[in-house]
Amino acid sequence: MRKILVAGNWKMHGSTAMVQELLDSLLTAPARAEVDMAVFPPFPYLPLAQSLLADSPIAWGAQNLNPAAQGAHTGEVSASMLLEFGCRYVLVGHSERRTLYGETDEDVADRFERALEAGLEPVLCVGETLEEREQDRTEEVVDRQLEAVIGRSGMAGFQRAVVAYEPVWAIGTGRTASPEQAQAVHAFIRDKFASRDGIIAGQLRILYGGSVKGSNAADLFAREDIDGGLVGGASLKADDFLAIRDAVA
Ligand code: PEP
Repeated sequence: MRKILVAGNWKMHGSTAMVQELLDSLLTAPARAEVDMAVFPPFPYLPLAQSLLADSPIAWGAQNLNPAAQGAHTGEVSASMLLEFGCRYVLVGHSERRTLYGETDEDVADRFERALEAGLEPVLCVGETLEEREQDRTEEVVDRQLEAVIGRSGMAGFQRAVVAYEPVWAIGTGRTASPEQAQAVHAFIRDKFASRDGIIAGQLRILYGGSVKGSNAADLFAREDIDGGLVGGASLKADDFLAIRDAVA
């Protein structure tokens, strides 16, 4: 039986007070053992997340990592640093990293591989732009993004990874993919993996991200191949984030 994962990507938002208040609220809310939760704070708040969430069922992770082990990479953060602060997960290939910071499919594959080597669970983000969807190229784009990573880490890499389908046109826009649109791409992703390894495909968690809210989460999570959500804006307020968690049937 699959377990829904509800993960909050805080992007570049927060302050010490906000992190404290948000995590306190998540921790004091009545628990739901049947849903996994994770948060992705900005790097400076990882120690605080670690101290507040240690011994709780809520996992935490980082929003990116550098593929190098250490060295002259000003402004970057390595896998071993994330591990020191107890991260379980790390996002790789978020569309904002791809579009605003020029991360290529190859960069993303390097980061994914480094995360795996270090013992982190990468959450690989893939998704098409509006233009690509309108040109009917969604599957081609998602396929290319996945192939870059499979080519580098193999299918085995996905034994300990999560995929997040995040159509770029739905991120932070208030425009959500319909459950049918999302399910179609999730089924495409699962079938792609299944054609190579049925067991890995069956176990793989595929999250949907793009303006998930309490009002649309139940319909999304009810779909066969949608195993949870990667939530941006609505993960910044405890009530909104908990409404998404509580939408899980
Ligand atoms: C995201 O940042 O990954 C995201 C999906 O954002 P939002 O939920 O705000 O669209």
